[in-house]
Amino acid sequence: MADADIGVIGGSGFYSFLDDVTEITVDTPYGRPSDSVFLGEIAGRRVAFLPRHGRDHHLPPHRINYRANLWALRSLGVRQVLGPCAVGGLRPEYGPGTLLIPDQLVDRTKARVQTYFDGEPLPGPASADATGNGGGTERSGRVPHVVHLSFADPYCPAGRRAAVAAARGRDWEPVDGGTLVVIEGPRFSTRAESRWHAAQGWSVVGMTGHPEAVLARELSLCYTSLTLVTDLDAGTEAGAGVSHEEVLDVFAQNVGRLREVLFDAVAALPGTTARDCPCVDAHAGRDLGIELP
Ligand SMILES: [Zn+2]
Repeated sequence: MADADIGVIGGSGFYSFLDDVTEITVDTPYGRPSDSVFLGEIAGRRVAFLPRHGRDHHLPPHRINYRANLWALRSLGVRQVLGPCAVGGLRPEYGPGTLLIPDQLVDRTKARVQTYFDGEPLPGPASADATGNGGGTERSGRVPHVVHLSFADPYCPAGRRAAVAAARGRDWEPVDGGTLVVIEGPRFSTRAESRWHAAQGWSVVGMTGHPEAVLARELSLCYTSLTLVTDLDAGTEAGAGVSHEEVLDVFAQNVGRLREVLFDAVAALPGTTARDCPCVDAHAGRDLGIELP
């Protein structure tokens, strides 16, 4: 039996009050994830919690080992992932406390590994052709593979439905849809960058939603982002600009109800074998050159 079938990538506020949480360490071919994984149960579903920044919040967004995080969750049996994160609002009406469930993503990160399919085989036993005769075989897993997956719709439709319904069930009307633009950070945007993001029609800006989403897709995981607006971004507000303290304050004020929404969403997700969303068939039968856990 799998250790978990649902993953939540978020801080300790999401699991620390659960009874019977089991802490386990997981290693992956891509190194260590951000922290231990914490296994617990919500509404009969086995859930794996992973603190994205580490439990003491020591990892800045650009230093997170996103590949190890998603790989670790999949290796435990996880097939559906909920990814709450703090964001800045790019419209005046998306003030602090707004919950937005995006349906689109713009990647403005600059220096992050965002694929498992980088033409390099995983470390492992040499192929049958290790003698050097004949140049290898197509099926050895040691031949570089070039894989391009569709990412037109970056989020799981079933996961989004569950998240929106869970928020409504808690009387927290969410913004259903919108575009999350992910910047490299760790600095916040300049006013010019922020105004440009807003002028493109994008909704919220964050630093961790990518490459988390695309790596989940590459592993055929359902991925749903739940963005909590903690501040109006620099180009939208008139004051001195966002501060890290302000972000933490607003997040702390909302973490209780965000946790309720997450737990209700967990309970509403389809069973692993009942998934009928496009995420399940993300690879469309392609030979990936790597064996997924
Ligand atoms: Zn899905």
